[in-house]
Amino acid sequence: MSTSKSVAIIGGGACGLLCAIECAKASLEVTIFEKNTKAAKKILASGNGRCNISNTTLSSSDYFGEDSNFVSYALEEFGFKKFQNYVENFGLFLDIKEDGKAYPLSNEAKSVTHLMVMYAQSLGVNFLYEQRVTKLQPLLDKFDAIVIATGSQAASHLGGSEDGYTLAQEVGHTIVPTYPTLVQLELQESCVKKLAGIKLAGEVTLFINNKKEQTISGDILFTNYGVSGLAILDISHLASEALKDYQVVDISLNLLPKIAPQKLVSLLMQNNINSFTLIEVLAGFVPLKIAKTLLEELQINPTTKLNTKLAKKIVNKLQNWKFEVTQTHGFRHAEASAGGVSTKEIDPKTMNSKKHPKLYFCGEVIDVVGRRGGFNFAWAWASGYSAAKAIVKQ
Ligand SMILES: Cc1cc2nc3c(=O)[nH]c(=O)nc-3n(C[C@H](O)[C@H](O)[C@H](O)COP(=O)(O)OP(=O)(O)OC[C@H]3O[C@@H](n4cnc5c(N)ncnc54)[C@H](O)[C@@H]3O)c2cc1C
Repeated sequence: MSTSKSVAIIGGGACGLLCAIECAKASLEVTIFEKNTKAAKKILASGNGRCNISNTTLSSSDYFGEDSNFVSYALEEFGFKKFQNYVENFGLFLDIKEDGKAYPLSNEAKSVTHLMVMYAQSLGVNFLYEQRVTKLQPLLDKFDAIVIATGSQAASHLGGSEDGYTLAQEVGHTIVPTYPTLVQLELQESCVKKLAGIKLAGEVTLFINNKKEQTISGDILFTNYGVSGLAILDISHLASEALKDYQVVDISLNLLPKIAPQKLVSLLMQNNINSFTLIEVLAGFVPLKIAKTLLEELQINPTTKLNTKLAKKIVNKLQNWKFEVTQTHGFRHAEASAGGVSTKEIDPKTMNSKKHPKLYFCGEVIDVVGRRGGFNFAWAWASGYSAAKAIVKQ
């Protein structure tokens, strides 16, 4: 009969895989219970199929949760350099961009999943697919240690589920209310539908209860329901948190942020060639759909001749186009979830539950969420590593 410690990991996603590898390296008997037919579907879909796997600059200020310092110990223990060496050991090399974001050198998320699963299997990790765990007690009875690595309910089509919270509640854990983050925003104004499909490099400013909170530059993509794009995802955490608390959330879009307002007025006037109507003047600055919708919103006839007063009015709208945010586009479309198992009930050094000695947590199921840029995977790796180290030592 085997005498080595047995570990059950619920969830074969990012943190579950790393935790399994680290436990198996110490010759523990590891079983992964994964409800999908394959492991780590979120890794496969991440970073538009490229997987922004980590970031060279990791600190607690990149994270949100009731206690953002909760991440500090794990991130110090398993910082970027250590992670890079760790994955190079099983053949996964990284490409580090100037802004600190790291990607697999292959530029393919597939290689991350493939190499991690292959390596885990070579170390003897037992993968049980299509095994959704809904009760903790049978595993507590059978295994020496159990890791809840189920992630959050974000992106249910990729395995997102609330199961981890239910399992944690079985032994008395508290769940900090969850809300979607890194998510698209739905807007009140029906005119956005007319702009659907337009993508531009703009600037978005978030207002909560009419107070300016944050301005972010980057891609903005208009959709049938509202707005998407990297700048919107970046601003979505604060917006979603405020919406959860029933606050009034608005965004103001600057569609031509690189040109100062006075300069833009004079450029418009300069483009006011004799035979040109207003719509033709604007076509030189923004996509036609935007020009038409903007004039409709301002109730200006597109065939009108431009004058300075009109130019100022148009520039003001182009650079401060305000929309009311009604809701986020929901968990189904979100990259991550805020909230989760309360960090007050987990030891930050070991990820061990303070409610049950055999129980551990890692990854997004915990009340920790990072900003965009590889920070969520960084947390998954670091927390999975800490849990494994503690289980091996236990
Ligand atoms: C589209 C998309 C793109 C993203 N891009 C990035 C990116 O580029 N960089 C970044 O840092 N982060 C990114 N993220 C976030 C990142 O994917 C997550 O933060 C990370 O995967 C969390 O890791 P985890 O191991 O906690 O959970 P997951 O990776 O979600 O793994 C949880 C696993 O548990 C399984 N599971 C759930 N419930 C059960 C159950 N009851 N029984 C058995 N198995 C169960 C699930 O099927 C899943 O395989 C992205 C997310 C999405 C949705």
